[in-house]
Amino acid sequence: MKYAEHISDLVGGTPLVRLSRVTEGLSATILAKVEYLNPGGSVKDRIALKMVEAAEASGELRPGGTIVEPTSGNTGVGLALVAQRKGYRCVFVCPDKVSQDKRDVLTAYGAEVVVTPTAVAPDHPDSYYSVSDRLAAEIEGGWKPNQYFNLNGPASHYESTGPEIWTDTDGRLTHFVTGVGTGGTIAGTGRYLKDVSSDRPADEGGRVRVVGADPAGSVYSGGDGRPYLVEGVGEDFWPGAYDPTVPDEIIAVNDADSFSMTRRLAREEGLLVGGSCGMAVEAALRLARRLEEEDPAAAARAVIVVLLPDGGRGYLSKIFSDAWMRSYGFLREDGGAVVGDLLR
Ligand code: PMP
Repeated sequence: MKYAEHISDLVGGTPLVRLSRVTEGLSATILAKVEYLNPGGSVKDRIALKMVEAAEASGELRPGGTIVEPTSGNTGVGLALVAQRKGYRCVFVCPDKVSQDKRDVLTAYGAEVVVTPTAVAPDHPDSYYSVSDRLAAEIEGGWKPNQYFNLNGPASHYESTGPEIWTDTDGRLTHFVTGVGTGGTIAGTGRYLKDVSSDRPADEGGRVRVVGADPAGSVYSGGDGRPYLVEGVGEDFWPGAYDPTVPDEIIAVNDADSFSMTRRLAREEGLLVGGSCGMAVEAALRLARRLEEEDPAAAARAVIVVLLPDGGRGYLSKIFSDAWMRSYGFLREDGGAVVGDLLR
């Protein structure tokens, strides 16, 4: 019989799928790593498992303890899965821009959810960082994984996501593209892919180039943290999980283009994914277009892997709602093309 002992044993090992429609006219091979196939539905299962196991090993998290974390939902689901198996209580703090659907998922897993205002500075007492600090200190046996600064986050990607991509592309990928939130995915995966390819000859692709995708307005692409609507990516401060020496380049994508591509991925590629996935794919396509312009022969040999962090079910009342899209001017009144890009 083939079965797992617990759902959390099934984290990682996600597949690559070639994008074939949204890539029309481009000669590069563009492969999506489908992280919504993790048991909790996102890439964040990987860091949750690693952070909890490391905290148990170091004694920071003890039997009967409570996990307190500021999370936009996905990290919460991963932590909740792992916590259930090990008997911990979970309290999650979410900014109010996070959809009700996502918060309901956390509650369904048995976690408690505290909602804080989005539009306050990180050092404000009501910010989701401050509130989670306070709760972690006040609750007996409280432990805050602190995904923004916990280096076990990037370590989990160095140990799993990076090797999976390298193996599944037979060591042929030339570019890795991913969104940047805490920075853990790009730091860990990107570092592994650069390390493993550091001696690869130029005619076999040379060293892997790592490209971050960032919401326009966020610090990673030179913004001041001005608000954007895409969830889970971009920051208004510099997290310790991010390693600025890893990305070779950061591409800024605005909300309209991110959401337009997110809808196209569902309609044209059969990938019902979240807004940060549309953002990352849009960045990957811009990269591919540029390679095509600069050196068509190199573009034809390029193998670009773009990581899709989560699924689209949590965004049905937002990105996939015409009314919501229209209310922000992302969809024309007549239901036609989206501002900033095409919506087919
Ligand atoms: N997309 C979504 C939907 C996320 O929840 C996250 C995690 N915050 C990311 C992208 C970015 O991943 P990372 O935190 O590893 O940079």
